[in-house]
Amino acid sequence: MGTLMFDKVYIEKRLKDHPRTLSILEKIKCQSTYYISRYDEVWGKVKKPYLQKRESLNLFIAEKKGELVKETPPAYGHGDEKHYFYIHAFNCIYECQYCYLQGYFQTPDIVLFINHEEIISEMQKLVELPENSNAWFHAGEYSDSLALAHITDELSVYFDFFKNNPKAKLELRSKAVNIRPLLQLEALPNVFVSFTLSSHESGKKFDTTCPSVKHRLNAIKKLVDHGYRIGLHFDPIIYEDNFQTAYKDILTEINKILPDEQLGYISLGVVRFTKDVYHSVKKHYPDSPFLKQDLIKSFDGKLRYNRPMRNWILNTVKDLCIQVGQYQEKKIYFCMED
Ligand code: SF4
Repeated sequence: MGTLMFDKVYIEKRLKDHPRTLSILEKIKCQSTYYISRYDEVWGKVKKPYLQKRESLNLFIAEKKGELVKETPPAYGHGDEKHYFYIHAFNCIYECQYCYLQGYFQTPDIVLFINHEEIISEMQKLVELPENSNAWFHAGEYSDSLALAHITDELSVYFDFFKNNPKAKLELRSKAVNIRPLLQLEALPNVFVSFTLSSHESGKKFDTTCPSVKHRLNAIKKLVDHGYRIGLHFDPIIYEDNFQTAYKDILTEINKILPDEQLGYISLGVVRFTKDVYHSVKKHYPDSPFLKQDLIKSFDGKLRYNRPMRNWILNTVKDLCIQVGQYQEKKIYFCMED
């Protein structure tokens, strides 16, 4: 992986000499550095077009204040346990045509929050509550949780927390193949590395600058060999003409590298947009094939395929996961469906 290049790096003044700041600065290249009081006094203050991330991206090194760990919306994760996500970054170096971040923030500039100990102390308080003892914590709700892990170098502190709290579970959700930091750590039974996947064709068309689906499968194989438990997200599934064959093929490949014992769960979801994100997608990717498909306003106000089409797509992929992937039905759930 080449050295990441940022235009400007903004650092909160009190973090100037923080070891994590210095370590991040050693691993990136930038044109100029600025010291500011708070990241949110600059970040997103002037609207920056999303696609400018192709030419120039700035980086902010900051402390997250306010809510560091949040409860997820319903039907977000597997099982009946409580689900939370923690916020360690905003924005992503990749570009996927359906990404909801393109309508979410005023800027694509990246923020890295480095106060991981405070995030972990919030998680510790939560797991001490009886209803949360076996809760899930998800990373990467507003970013990709592994894409910059070689720069941010925070995984070991989270692994220590999950080693000390074996009933709590961590999900690192990613499309990155940046797995060296994970291979340097001992795989823990309560840490799940999850990959968002689609058919090869869909990946090529819509995950514009992400590692290819083939490379993601290679990463899964290496992590399985290292002993990690893996989660799979076929989400968003976008209808294509040869949709059944395409998903049959990918599940045939996955079956060869991921045994059921090391599969944590599979989540399935169809493409969906809030109204704002849909407008952004239309502006940024006017030729995207899913804009020509029929999407209707559904139960939560988001635009999706109509219910019979959604049920057909989700159940078709679910059946393929069971029959071709050879995975247990109880491990498969539908994400963000009513
Ligand atoms: S990898 Fe995830 S966060 Fe990054 S652009 Fe794609 S969908 Fe968005």
